[in-house]
Amino acid sequence: MPPPTSSRPSLEGADAPVPEVVDLAVVGASAAGLWAALAAARAEAGLRIVALDGARHLGAKILVSGGGRCNLGHRQVSERDYRGSTPPAIRQVLRRFPVSATLDRFRELGLDLHEEPPGKLYPATERARSVLEALVGGLRRAGVELRHPFRVERLEGGTSGFLLAGPQGLLTARRVILATGGRALPKSGSDGRGYALARAMGHETTAAIHPALVPLLLEEGCRLRTIPGTAAEARVRVLGAGRGKPPRTRGAVLCTHFGISGPAVLDISRHYLAAEASGQAPQLEIDWWPAGRDELERRLLERHGTVGGTLRERLPARLAQVLAADAAVEPGLPLHRLDRSARRRLLAVVTEGIVPVTGHRGWHKAETTAGGIPLAQLRLETLESRC
Ligand SMILES: Cc1cc2nc3c(=O)[nH]c(=O)nc-3n(C[C@H](O)[C@H](O)[C@H](O)COP(=O)(O)OP(=O)(O)OC[C@H]3O[C@@H](n4cnc5c(N)ncnc54)[C@H](O)[C@@H]3O)c2cc1C
Repeated sequence: MPPPTSSRPSLEGADAPVPEVVDLAVVGASAAGLWAALAAARAEAGLRIVALDGARHLGAKILVSGGGRCNLGHRQVSERDYRGSTPPAIRQVLRRFPVSATLDRFRELGLDLHEEPPGKLYPATERARSVLEALVGGLRRAGVELRHPFRVERLEGGTSGFLLAGPQGLLTARRVILATGGRALPKSGSDGRGYALARAMGHETTAAIHPALVPLLLEEGCRLRTIPGTAAEARVRVLGAGRGKPPRTRGAVLCTHFGISGPAVLDISRHYLAAEASGQAPQLEIDWWPAGRDELERRLLERHGTVGGTLRERLPARLAQVLAADAAVEPGLPLHRLDRSARRRLLAVVTEGIVPVTGHRGWHKAETTAGGIPLAQLRLETLESRC
């Protein structure tokens, strides 16, 4: 945030303690905050920069990312990989700091990377901790002070800068970077307090802020819940999510004791929840037969074999059994005895089954957050606040 121009911080007064003064306070010292503090130190030598974080242990979310390996980027990134805002706005941000610059910075920090198809980048050590150590080490070498736990509960703008206050003390900063994350995995320290700090500075937040990349809950009686651990490649769509093509994903769907997870479900969850948050009545459709409905129909019209045997050619046995039960078709039924209406039921359940979603697994199981401060309130070339 740029230096404020009006109104004194309310804690400034004759009897109030005189807070320590720094050039830049970064609130939140995880992936974004550590990176931003480093960039600031690099941009202007001699600044007094303090990175504050409310967490006792830094970088909890970095450490769990990518299953503990930290998939820290991708070789090819474009505006199509992002949701929210508009493609031109995202393009502008990405152009300002392309992937090549990210890779150069990591190399400068002494972090070797390795690439996995289709372009995913990991630390060569395969340990997320190496990423955290590289960032913290770089920060220390750059002379940035890291202070934690230091939770900021209040942020006020005044003539002499910003006042940051919390249980661990007071600080005045000429400029502030808010890098407090979203609400996903609140035990890591990012519990949404940052939105209140931003609102105190005049920002708005989007009408809906909901989990993204989150497993979905299914109705109690849903048979998919009876086969936890079973996974299959599928196409997933959200129907009734407004005008335009229904959002869709393709990848593994994992059945669990509470509902469904896996990459295809995590990826589509934000679309389902966004539609719900905007008052629509979305439906989640799973096509368990990515080879296509016609292919399955052809197979079912063959005269030899059984229903279960045919489904098991492409699906795990337990899933085949559950889908047959949903279609009220006996898995052992010989194909030559499968009548037209049973075949139709089976095709519908396997290739366009609507699953009864009742909610999501919650912030503590979400990987990311959808929503927040609209990009329109930021200068896209620097991400500086317009407020
Ligand atoms: C299980 C899981 C797996 C993931 N895997 C990947 C992956 O492989 N690749 C990938 O790119 N992303 C992954 N992510 C997402 C990634 O971790 C986040 O996008 C990233 O951590 C966001 O960084 P951030 O710095 O913006 O926010 P956060 O990491 O949430 O950090 C915000 C920081 O701000 C601090 N803070 C909040 N409020 C205050 C306050 N009031 N005062 C002081 N400090 C405060 C918090 O303590 C926290 O340290 C994963 C996430 C999860 C949960």
